[in-house]
Amino acid sequence: MSAASGAYRGLLDKYRHRLPISESTPIVNLYEGNTPLLPLENIPRESRVDADIWVKLEGLNPTGSFKDRGMTMAVSRALEEGSRAIICASTGNTSASAAAYAARAGMRAFVLIPDGKISLGKLAQAMMHGATIIKIDGNFDDGMRLVREVAEEAPVTIVNSINPYRLQGQKTVAFEVVESLGRAPDFHCLPVGNAGNISAHWIGYSEACPGERNCVTASCNFCDGSCPYASEPLADSRPVMVGYQATGAAPFLRGHPVENPETVATAIRIGNPQSWDLALAASAESGGWFDEFDDAEILATQKLLAEKEGIFCEPASAVAVSGALRDLKSGKIPAGSTVVCTLTGHGLKDSDAAIAQDSAPMLTVKANRDAVRNAIAGALE
Ligand SMILES: *Cc1c(COP(=O)(O)O)cnc(C)c1O
Repeated sequence: MSAASGAYRGLLDKYRHRLPISESTPIVNLYEGNTPLLPLENIPRESRVDADIWVKLEGLNPTGSFKDRGMTMAVSRALEEGSRAIICASTGNTSASAAAYAARAGMRAFVLIPDGKISLGKLAQAMMHGATIIKIDGNFDDGMRLVREVAEEAPVTIVNSINPYRLQGQKTVAFEVVESLGRAPDFHCLPVGNAGNISAHWIGYSEACPGERNCVTASCNFCDGSCPYASEPLADSRPVMVGYQATGAAPFLRGHPVENPETVATAIRIGNPQSWDLALAASAESGGWFDEFDDAEILATQKLLAEKEGIFCEPASAVAVSGALRDLKSGKIPAGSTVVCTLTGHGLKDSDAAIAQDSAPMLTVKANRDAVRNAIAGALE
């Protein structure tokens, strides 16, 4: 099998020299990454917000979320190291991604999910890809603790974001943003759950801009102080990192883990983030902050993106845009800024949440021409 030279073959291939892989690493991929960076056109104008707001459509990765960036890296290294099985705790998207990459690699996948608390779309993915699904009567944080305990004895590789290769794969999103814009944005807004992704973004931006890099605190697991990227900077600045959480699952706002996290945005329904220190460092080093939104606000922004821009993302993803808009209106993000929001997952993952909003005008009519014509005429009035 061969492809035309220059054809895109996934992020391990494209960023090989910037990732912890070698010639002998077997690459397990689904041609993930290379996602569109799209400008919002209608929302900024209608909300009278003066800024360039771009959205990175991570829902267009092979399994519908950014988790694929980390999973191609983690599963490739697990295979290289001789592992035959991977395991993760998940609110849904990690399990979907782990299951798909395990299938591609010919490995077994074990996924621990909170019973009844993951969307049907995500569960369907894990099932179709042949993962062994272990439902627990606990939340993500319980699952995470159990995965850590079990992996100490069982011959399984953890592919949650505590696996450092996950963040290495996910950092590539920052490279792509810089390439698309020709520079780093002024602000980067994203949802924060387990806090791996905000940490990974920061590693990526720090490597894209080695001039500003501070290896002692910039939290790269592979950096010994001699920055390998100094000779090839992609950007000459780094953005301010702004992380948003759901009010019912906002440990960074409370300053401590949250016991029983609750939110409609199930992908960020996490009370005890594993990348706590890395995320705090990213926020502090970049001069950023955390903020929170309740479920009603999150769902309103999800709907706004769908209705005004034609972009259907998960509830968890929408919180990034809720945040960017509020902080632009308050001036916390200055007018004229270039802002990127990571839309972490596809809206079709959680069609239940969308349909539960039940705001679409639905008309039931007889199956004849007059009835349909009258319904249209009525709606246009
Ligand atoms: C995993 C996930 C998040 C949260 O990312 P963290 O790295 O856990 O902070 C947000 N949105 C979606 C759609 C996700 O799948």
